[in-house]
Amino acid sequence: MEQLEQQLQRYAELIVKVGVNVQQGQEVFISSQIETAPLTRLVAAEAYRAGAGNVYVDWNDDTVSRLKYDHAAPEVFSNFPEWETLKRNSFVERGACFISFVSSGPDVLKGVDPQRIGAYQKAAGAGLVNFRRAVQSDKVAWTVAAAASADWANKVFPGDEPELAVNKLWLAIFDAVRLHEEDPVEAWRAHDQSLHGKVDWLNGLRLRKLRYRAAGTDLTVELPDRHLWVGASSVTPDGVRFMANMPTEEVFTAPRRDGVDGYVSSTKPLSFAGNIIDRFKLTFALGRIVKAEAEEGEEILRQLVETDEGTHYLGEMALVPHRSPISESNILFYNTLFDENASNHFAIGSGYAFNVEGGKTMSPEELAASGINQSVAHVDFMVGSAEMDIDGYQEDGTIVPIFRGGNWA
Ligand code: ZN
Ligand code: ZN
Repeated sequence: MEQLEQQLQRYAELIVKVGVNVQQGQEVFISSQIETAPLTRLVAAEAYRAGAGNVYVDWNDDTVSRLKYDHAAPEVFSNFPEWETLKRNSFVERGACFISFVSSGPDVLKGVDPQRIGAYQKAAGAGLVNFRRAVQSDKVAWTVAAAASADWANKVFPGDEPELAVNKLWLAIFDAVRLHEEDPVEAWRAHDQSLHGKVDWLNGLRLRKLRYRAAGTDLTVELPDRHLWVGASSVTPDGVRFMANMPTEEVFTAPRRDGVDGYVSSTKPLSFAGNIIDRFKLTFALGRIVKAEAEEGEEILRQLVETDEGTHYLGEMALVPHRSPISESNILFYNTLFDENASNHFAIGSGYAFNVEGGKTMSPEELAASGINQSVAHVDFMVGSAEMDIDGYQEDGTIVPIFRGGNWA
């Protein structure tokens, strides 16, 4: 597969240049599974070529993680190690950029005691709170990108031989990040501009609320007074432009914490903490989730909602046309980075500081006062479909069609 190697090299370049935009002398923090080491090594080499001062890789292994969930002492899950917190925080303080590869099997923790998963999510969320704040306010450059693993590929292409499935998944990843374009870096620049066009239109409307309607969904979502829609690239305080997700097709803002009413149904399975949650429905009153039902994974969904007070509320609302390149691939990825970019979605948990004017320099208390939800978690889930209509309501009551039949009106 000489071609695969060439494509991986192009992908590594794209992640370093467009994803985190590595700067001279900068440190680079990479989270990767050992299984996808070949890509991670190429990214490390490319980062040094771009001038990185030091590349650090935080290696993980799903098999060892699973062994821990099955056999470790119960207290391990509620005690997030202090050194992990200090490690992340010190990279943030030194101005590192962060690359996270998602590659795990979507149900790698299936059958694990949900209490253990809930305890770990809570402890890790609290332990990494500073890191997440830095990320959610664009203080550091960061990107989440994908790498194909055997477990993940098997879930997406269950009928194929392992090697073929992995190759097919790589091709789907490459397509989604526009590697088929002659000049992918330039293609991303154009894509960035087109998403910013949508952002400008939505910000110009100054909407008070949106109403979502589809089968199983009738939800009204109010927006904070000084909300901002954003999408595609972001900029650090030092003026470095980066792409937080690759792929990305969304424009998003934050709902007003107490302004969500009605019910919404999922339209794609959600892989969360190594488990699948599917065919679920959330009911809201004054922003709060008052009912969470799922045909599959209800116990895990409940653990998620019970993580902290903030996981009873929404932190993100994102618009993605049903006719997007990823949804047209007709592949169900069982991976939020992909599925959220093929579907309108919301996130349970914390909102992004940059979704409100002046938010990047606000304290958590000021953000909360501006209507932005605070939590140790942030979990996107998909609700879009070809039937979804969304209306926007302006200050004077004018109704603006935003989505019709799943696509931009
Ligand atoms: Zn999103
Ligand atoms: Zn999100």
